[in-house]
Amino acid sequence: PLILGIETSCDETGVGLVRGCELLSDEVASSVDQHARFGGVVPEVASRAHLEAMTPTVRRALDKAGVTLADVDAVAVTAGPGLAGALLVGVSAAKAYAMALGKPLYGVNHLVGHVAVDQLEHGPLPKPSIALLVSGGHTSLLLVRDLATGVQSLGDTVDDAAGEAYDKVARLLGLPYPGGPPIDRAAREGSAKAIRFPRGKWGDGTYDFSFSGLKTAVARWVEDSARDGRSLPVSDIAAGFQESVVDVLTRKAVDACLEHGVEHLVISGGVAANSRLRALAEERCADAGVTLRVPRPRLCTDNGAMIAALGAEVVAADLPPSTLRLATDTSLPVDRTLAA
Ligand code: ATP
Ligand code: MG
Ligand code: FE
Repeated sequence: PLILGIETSCDETGVGLVRGCELLSDEVASSVDQHARFGGVVPEVASRAHLEAMTPTVRRALDKAGVTLADVDAVAVTAGPGLAGALLVGVSAAKAYAMALGKPLYGVNHLVGHVAVDQLEHGPLPKPSIALLVSGGHTSLLLVRDLATGVQSLGDTVDDAAGEAYDKVARLLGLPYPGGPPIDRAAREGSAKAIRFPRGKWGDGTYDFSFSGLKTAVARWVEDSARDGRSLPVSDIAAGFQESVVDVLTRKAVDACLEHGVEHLVISGGVAANSRLRALAEERCADAGVTLRVPRPRLCTDNGAMIAALGAEVVAADLPPSTLRLATDTSLPVDRTLAA
């Protein structure tokens, strides 16, 4: 079946078309430039941008896939988690398409979508797998027995998400928003050994994470440099900060695989685009005999194909479609692939 996927949980209007594990098209319109000067997403601005981008983005996705709306067999949409107003635009559009086409509607979980998208690149996810989900709003380790029906959270961040830490630290260092890519680049010019930053929740026996202490340590560095009139070693700070983040993420992810006897790790979400995270994960997985899957960077950040990919899973699992009463859920828990 041909699945139309619609994503509007944050600042990307994503529309994807997928058949099983086959990616037909993936069109994204981002309002990120409109938020940059605020250093974070402004919800009202994002909602309006979704409204304007929705129809043209659907049209482009259909054109690129070489299909028409009449070919679509089911509509999948992000029901949560995300920004209330932003989610509402996508869910309303998806209802309209489903109703007009007389095809089933599935309200699905954005976070599980981040994991499901890997199937478009590497084929069916082995069962079970451990998933490390690292994005702008979430940092979780998941035990994935089945994408449609069996996702279990092993641990979460207790404060900032990894992507959020990148964005906040970038701001402290005077780098642009979103902070992940510029820190990734700056870190390559610096030494990860020059400054050792604290590792939050290191070796605490849980699969939880904490990044706010790290952020505070960077802030202190910036303040001290300014007070003493020293120039800020931006690339060394970026490298040291990044090393602290990816050290803890990869350590706990591999530990989860070993403890649960799971041979496959998938890393996804926007921060999975990070070059150092990818390199260190590869190294540590190889040492531990764990096979690693990381989607290409383009699929790691928000897009519609990930929602279509999860929609395909849900259809294949024969789960009941959502009704036209489908509501958005800004804090939909990760163990619920399908929204009520
Ligand atoms: P969520 O999925 O939790 O709702 P989100 O959808 O906003 O949050 P994504 O779009 O998946 O998050 O990811 C965006 C985050 O990824 C931003 O915080 C950004 O800084 C980060 N990011 C993007 N590229 C990189 C990179 N190369 N290195 C580190 N972080 C990155
Ligand atoms: Mg985004
Ligand atoms: Fe996301």
